[in-house]
Amino acid sequence: MTQVTAYDILLNIAVPRPNGSQACEETARAIADFMGSLSGRVQVQEFFLRPYMQAVTGAFFLTIGIACLVLLVKRRYWIALLLSLIIPAVYIAEFEFDVPVVSWIGGRTGVNVIADFLPPGGEAAADRYITFSAHYDSKTDLFDHEQRKPIYSFAPVAMACLIAASAVGVAFCRPRRRWTLSTRRAAPTASRVILLALAGVGVAGLFMLALAFGGGLLVPAHLQSPGARDDGAAVAVLMSLAEKLASSQPHQPQLERTAVRLVFFGGEEVNMQGSAAYAAAGAVAMGGFAEGPVINCELVGGAAPFCYWESSGTFLSKYCVSEQALRLYQEALSTLGLSPAVNAGSIFDDSGRLLAAGLQAIGVGHGDPGKPDSYHNAGDSVDRVVPQRLDETEQVFLQMISIVEREETRSG
Ligand SMILES: [Zn+2]
Repeated sequence: MTQVTAYDILLNIAVPRPNGSQACEETARAIADFMGSLSGRVQVQEFFLRPYMQAVTGAFFLTIGIACLVLLVKRRYWIALLLSLIIPAVYIAEFEFDVPVVSWIGGRTGVNVIADFLPPGGEAAADRYITFSAHYDSKTDLFDHEQRKPIYSFAPVAMACLIAASAVGVAFCRPRRRWTLSTRRAAPTASRVILLALAGVGVAGLFMLALAFGGGLLVPAHLQSPGARDDGAAVAVLMSLAEKLASSQPHQPQLERTAVRLVFFGGEEVNMQGSAAYAAAGAVAMGGFAEGPVINCELVGGAAPFCYWESSGTFLSKYCVSEQALRLYQEALSTLGLSPAVNAGSIFDDSGRLLAAGLQAIGVGHGDPGKPDSYHNAGDSVDRVVPQRLDETEQVFLQMISIVEREETRSG
């Protein structure tokens, strides 16, 4: 059998595969079939996927924001205040606690593909574990990530503006009354001007947020992101790694006691729903893999150096990288004579969900913290992938597995 390289595999994966699309479901099926041909233990974990989460919530926030503005114009301050409070409440429920208040619209079944490679002695012989993961879905955004930053930073301000506007109305303005002595309208007071200006700013901010969240649906097919480095390259590396693990050729790792798991997450681009489902299954379902390191791969394959992210999550809940997993990663790089991985700062990816569940996770990839690349656009094509970096990444992962196999004491 001729060995296909990770880059060859990537060429087949790198088409737009947004959540909810046929391409995304076909990719998952192809990965499951490929893994089934290599491993005797493949699980397809199903979960309730909300493929349009950001688009639906963005449209909801904008609708509520506009309703709030209309109520303020009509001097219905108390109802406006109630509505303005719903926006951050739903935001936190959806994005922090993963509760589908409105994003269930368009929901369907999503899958994670989990393939285990056990030592020759099988389950009983394994006493050390390592997991590698990557997400197979892709995403296209209307704005690039530099353009999105101010919109996202301004979103809480926009929400606060609507609350403040309603509060000003409740505290300082005369509410609408059914009876009036005069049919002539009173001149607008200073507080009315302030509250309407605040509400206008709030709605404008929510309009931009809705575009940033759901605008990708407006992008024509030929301009959609093929998701080559986010995260097709990592998927390709793990598929190629699976071939090495399944192969009995002498130059492949000889594993007597190490079980290796490869996890392909769905729903990453819609608030990490796949990894949340994987983490929610719990330590019992994960067995020994709950104890071992989890290497989550993002943005692999660029010309930039090997990197890791020191934390993953939102500003409300950030999780620090596992020191144990980081040591393993750096040791593998130095054993191969490669430069140590650079710290690329913070990210919001699957490793956050895994860390939140208490797993020894790390996010790894290629990145230069000084000049980040842009993703979620047509530019994320195979042209930006350096084939040798994929092979090198695979070697680093094989090295990590060898280190785990050789470790004297059980890690934990
Ligand atoms: Zn990604």
